[in-house]
Amino acid sequence: MIEVKQLVKSFGSLTVLKGVTLKVEEKEVVVLLGASGSGKSTLLRCLNFLEFHDGGEIWISGQKIDPHKTNLNHFRENVGMVFQHFNLFPHKTVLENVIEAPVHVKGMKAAEAKELAYELLKKVNMQDKADVYPDMLSGGQKQRVAIARALAMKPKIMLFDEPTSALDPELVGEVLQVMKQLAKEGMTMIVVTHEMGFAREVADRAVFMHDGQILEQGPPSAFFENPQHERTKQFLGSIR
Ligand code: ADP
Ligand code: MG
Repeated sequence: MIEVKQLVKSFGSLTVLKGVTLKVEEKEVVVLLGASGSGKSTLLRCLNFLEFHDGGEIWISGQKIDPHKTNLNHFRENVGMVFQHFNLFPHKTVLENVIEAPVHVKGMKAAEAKELAYELLKKVNMQDKADVYPDMLSGGQKQRVAIARALAMKPKIMLFDEPTSALDPELVGEVLQVMKQLAKEGMTMIVVTHEMGFAREVADRAVFMHDGQILEQGPPSAFFENPQHERTKQFLGSIR
């Protein structure tokens, strides 16, 4: 589904990704862990072409993507992204937020987009709030709308960048529940999160990044019970 080979990304003289190699299979759920500044967000942003990599290769569904040459719209549609800070359009209702991209990017008919939006809002348990503005919602509700909005483009893979980190603790569960359901339905997902319960229960693989590289990876059970590297042990100790 997605394959990254020796990916390099620098910001000026600061090299943030130092040769990241990662393969994610269809329907696989990968949890990406690592200390702040290790390059997790940059990696996800490169996979969604919000940033352009400087070296290495990105392959999506068997096609190598050169962001400077390829028309990226099609690939961006295939890769949904959910951020820590929701990024909903404040002047649009929940429904309008969800139909925005299908209508304006994909050219979907409004009626069809609305039908799809109601279906997705139901999936994230937000069907009652379709006509409400984001201001009126809790963080957990906003994040569930953001997930519905990403799904409205019918992505093949979903990237989550600390989707529950900005939420009050009591709102974390409702968002994780939606993500868990998505995983169960077979969505391919890369999730940056420090929610170890979610990682253990839902992930097929845990990947640990340190200083712009993947240091260690494995099935969550092995990864959490028996980390190999000192850095991994330290990190796991710090978040437990
Ligand atoms: P993480 O998500 O693991 O916390 P990031 O990918 O956000 O790590 O950041 C990795 C490093 O790259 C940090 O040192 C950060 O300051 C730097 N960085 C990220 N984005 C930019 C940018 N747009 N310009 C300059 N430096 C950046
Ligand atoms: Mg980050």
